[in-house]
Amino acid sequence: MKLRCDFESRNKLVGGHVSIAESIDLAPERANSFGFNTFQIFVKSNLQWKYKTITDTECRNFRDNLKELKMIKPVAHATYLLNLGSDNMELINKSVDDLKYEIETCNRLGIEYLVIHPGSNNDRKHAFESIMNIVNSFETGSVRLLIENSSGKGNTVPATIEEMQLMMDLSKNRTGICLDTCHFFAEGYDLVNNYSESIEKLKSAGVMKNIYAMHLNDSMFAVGSKKDRHENIGKGFIGDEGFKNIINDSSFNDIPMIMETPGGDENYSINLEKLHDLMVIQ
Ligand SMILES: [Zn+2]
Ligand SMILES: [Zn+2]
Repeated sequence: MKLRCDFESRNKLVGGHVSIAESIDLAPERANSFGFNTFQIFVKSNLQWKYKTITDTECRNFRDNLKELKMIKPVAHATYLLNLGSDNMELINKSVDDLKYEIETCNRLGIEYLVIHPGSNNDRKHAFESIMNIVNSFETGSVRLLIENSSGKGNTVPATIEEMQLMMDLSKNRTGICLDTCHFFAEGYDLVNNYSESIEKLKSAGVMKNIYAMHLNDSMFAVGSKKDRHENIGKGFIGDEGFKNIINDSSFNDIPMIMETPGGDENYSINLEKLHDLMVIQ
């Protein structure tokens, strides 16, 4: 509780991805047990199209638990199977149907942010247009679709700040960006030696004001590696120095920062303490 109070006194929302095993309404309590004030879940399997519709009782319990445990800005992550940039119509249609369900479920659960890996195509320009046409066509209710930056591996968009900016420019809907620190670093933005410059670029491109959530992951590989391999906080190439920059940056206040670190539940308390140690208490 002490850690949570200290984070909140600095307007920091810190959590991790938690399981929905047994019942989705258990997720807020799981987050609370780790000392989080925010968290992320999948509302259905991340690796399969099929799903079991969540009941009204589960939704009501989930909302009650959020309120009771004072969880702030919880985030959902959509299935990894989506590709809104594909040339394959069957895959596009499956992706659209899946997202409709996930958006509806987030509205029922009272979750405002739904993070998506929007897709890929050899023709990146085609990917941007296809993705944003589809994203713009959704009725999202209270939900904001957050497009996650990629590590620059293959043809998954958006990777660069310019690509994130382009997607926000094409958006006519409730959208935003979920910035993954590991992916950002892997794409080539140095958060250790060139922190201010990297953040200034986000600001001058108009991307910073569109960041509604973050994935707080260290990187197993050096800056510019294009590899999507997460590491525990401070144990990778972003390291203590990089995370000291991030956790003390007021630009990221009130934005849910979600860990998707190796070992999951087992390492959350160590990672949370590490972030707390790196936060300069004023
Ligand atoms: Zn993701
Ligand atoms: Zn990743």
